Amino acid sequence: MKKYYGNKNGARNFARKFYSSKSWRTKSSAYRMEHPLCERCLKHGIYTKSTCVHHKEHISRMNQYDWNILLGDDNLEALCDDCHAKVHAKYTSYEFDEDGTLIDNYDDGND
Ligand SMILES: [Zn+2]
Ligand SMILES: [Zn+2]
Repeated sequence: MKKYYGNKNGARNFARKFYSSKSWRTKSSAYRMEHPLCERCLKHGIYTKSTCVHHKEHISRMNQYDWNILLGDDNLEALCDDCHAKVHAKYTSYEFDEDGTLIDNYDDGND
């Protein structure tokens, strides 16, 4: 039998705590200093101010203790609001926004 450590709620509480933690605040502001422009817009030659730092691999109950996922540059992406919403629209799993709120799957018809 598989053992899960925590549940959806546990991960959610973790994410909320994590996003308000000093390590995340320090990391995300440092990351945005390095990436002041939205990385996805930039790929299309558009200069948009980044407004948030997105986790490419979402924080879940499976990886919530993996600091490479949580704070590793490789898993982070500076995005603008529009790109962030689009990325999230594509996912089929649970994710948390930067305030630790669970984002339900939604389809806004983009892409
Ligand atoms: Zn963008
Ligand atoms: Zn995100």
